[in-house]
Amino acid sequence: MPAAAPPLPAPLMAAVRKHWGFTALRPLQEQAIRAALAGRDSLVVMPTGGGKSLCYQAPALVRDGLAVIVSPLIALMKDQVDGLARIGVPAVRLDSTLTPAERTSTFTQIRQGQVKLVFTSPERLVNTDVYQTLRDAGAHTVAVDEAHCVSHWGHDFRPEYRQLARLREFFPGAAVHGYTATATEHVRRDIAQQLGLRSPELLVGSFDRPNLTFRVLPRIDLMDQVRSVIERHPGDAGIVYCLRRKDVDDMAAALKTAGYRALPYHAGMTPEARKQAQEAFTSEEADIIVATVAFGMGIDRSNVRYVVHAAMPKTIEHYQQESGRAGRDGLPSECVLFHSGADFLTLKAIIEKSAEEAQAAPEYVAASVRQLDEMARYCRGATCRHRALVQYFGQRYECENCGACDVCLGDTTDVPDAQTVAKKILSCVARVKESFGAAHVIEVLRGSKSEAIRSRGHDQLTTHGLLKDVPKADLRDWVYQLIGQGVLVQAGDEYPVLKLNAASWAVMKGERAVRLIQLARREKRAKGAAPSSGGAPQLVALPPGADGELFEQLRYLRRKEASGAGVKPEMVFSDNVLAEMARARPTTEDALRRISGVGDYRLQQFGATFLEAIAFHCRRKGLETNVPPPRTFTAPVKAASSAAPSAKKQLAFKLFRGGASVAAVAEKVELTPATVNEYLAEFIAAEKPASIFGWVPEDVCERVAAAADIHGTGRLKPVFLELNGEVSYDHIRIVFAFLTTQQG
Ligand code: ADP
Ligand code: ZN
Repeated sequence: MPAAAPPLPAPLMAAVRKHWGFTALRPLQEQAIRAALAGRDSLVVMPTGGGKSLCYQAPALVRDGLAVIVSPLIALMKDQVDGLARIGVPAVRLDSTLTPAERTSTFTQIRQGQVKLVFTSPERLVNTDVYQTLRDAGAHTVAVDEAHCVSHWGHDFRPEYRQLARLREFFPGAAVHGYTATATEHVRRDIAQQLGLRSPELLVGSFDRPNLTFRVLPRIDLMDQVRSVIERHPGDAGIVYCLRRKDVDDMAAALKTAGYRALPYHAGMTPEARKQAQEAFTSEEADIIVATVAFGMGIDRSNVRYVVHAAMPKTIEHYQQESGRAGRDGLPSECVLFHSGADFLTLKAIIEKSAEEAQAAPEYVAASVRQLDEMARYCRGATCRHRALVQYFGQRYECENCGACDVCLGDTTDVPDAQTVAKKILSCVARVKESFGAAHVIEVLRGSKSEAIRSRGHDQLTTHGLLKDVPKADLRDWVYQLIGQGVLVQAGDEYPVLKLNAASWAVMKGERAVRLIQLARREKRAKGAAPSSGGAPQLVALPPGADGELFEQLRYLRRKEASGAGVKPEMVFSDNVLAEMARARPTTEDALRRISGVGDYRLQQFGATFLEAIAFHCRRKGLETNVPPPRTFTAPVKAASSAAPSAKKQLAFKLFRGGASVAAVAEKVELTPATVNEYLAEFIAAEKPASIFGWVPEDVCERVAAAADIHGTGRLKPVFLELNGEVSYDHIRIVFAFLTTQQG
């Protein structure tokens, strides 16, 4: 570990406080800003919502000369420049929409040294006039936003970005920085090469987005399913992604008919109509945008509370990008993906068609299909979704139970006797001599007498018909789930075959446990029944002690103020700031200034109005004002649950004291059993009950305790495996909590 870095220069922190109102930098921001101040090339990979823009904006503000920001979309540039103007940062843009007069005056401002940041597009920047003017005006930095657009391998290649290869030639003395939210190893290397970065500082943030809850569900009755997601977030912003334009139009119309403020968005609409839809969404006149993937980078609304995929996306990278548009403000948000086996075929056909039209190389098609297959495996997997996504991007995921995905929350049903089922599948792969694909293995297991099976004598195998009552789709899911857990391998590009590895044999010998889940394919929910997965209702997003009604009023006020000032609501205050206002309920300027995200400029412009509204509301409801922040403490069990509502937890504790079961508490407090189980572990740690046999049978306690003697209580998994997967993680967690209280 390097020694602690010296603090950042005081003027920089002062500027961040004054203009942005942030009291501290995030760790990666600090490193990126250090590189920028030192004039060192960098490549910064930070997830959406990580705060990339501050990394180039703040250093530019305190340095002499100017920074050039390359951005792919005019709408994005305009938003940024407007936003910066609001907080007193001199920035301009050079894009194709300027009139000749505006262009002349912008050039004059640049020449006279009146601006600190210049936003422009790649195609403008390579224009002689433009780069010479910028260079002569002292451009010390070129920051390339959405840098993955330069790479063929990224999910959003833009040919005009290729011109950036000449940056070095135009700005020999400047530092070059690339910023992106998504980049696999491959894309990263490509960006560095294309931009000609010189021994860049590589800064990669964690890809995990702990505030997002991921769910994957088979598509059964799409409209019903989508509505149940929307109903969990009444009045909040959401995006629904569909595969085709027609699906978008149909879904938008149906949602409108159902009374939602929904609008379509896709490339087949006129630019004018698209612009209107986008503006309605950012100004909070519309709550829901139904879109094809064409809708994305231009949106700048950080309080999107849910993203629904009506079908499987093409790649995991796409999924990460699109789902990542939820919760950019860091507040709890939900991502739900609905899929069916048909998606794979539809997407494959689309890929093949477009490859044919573009006369793409066969390798391209093969690579795309491989990515599609990874996506399908994610959908059908039994692995924690956070873990699967993070690992896809080559990072480790340490948490045993994320507490924020369908798998960990217990939304899914475990297949009874998964070990036996897995053994049957694996031994069938062995019997066909690891030379056939999933479809064939499944046919054998289901006892098919087709020509393909009989001609190879596979109807004579001992594994023939071993799982004849299991539907094909389930078997396919389970094969994918075994691959996902690394105990079965799919090899070969064109005709992938199933192969075994050492882990497969460990499973067959009973030395290794696996988990299989049953996707609720056929259990069509009765109309009007409660949604099966109780996602976080909107109020959960508020910090403990916040007044929900006040929050709603402040949101309304924000919308009004924004339209009065002709800006987007977010430029007034973010949801985070409003939530904190609803908790702290400040009534003085000083108290308001203490909220992170309230800088001098916003305070001046909007402070009085909000203070007045808060004071009025608190008087009327008799609420305490200027509430100090709660003392922070680290939860003993799991940090991810820190956003959980304390009222529900308190109620759960009370019920536990009376000896209530997890199921009974779950029903009472309306939380999933998995969450309640976490509460129970916390309850045991905190209140040290004399016995836990009411929650975990005595013999199970003894088995877990014996296994814990060998493996300790540091991690759940070794004990889970020791017990052959026969004791649930939930039970192990409870017993661990109890054992820990006994040790002290
Ligand atoms: P990105 O471009 O990486 O998606 P943004 O630059 O839009 O992220 O920032 C995401 C959100 O985080 C914004 O609402 C921004 O105001 C907030 N933010 C950025 N930096 C900080 C910070 N240091 N402290 C608090 N909030 C921050
Ligand atoms: Zn999980």
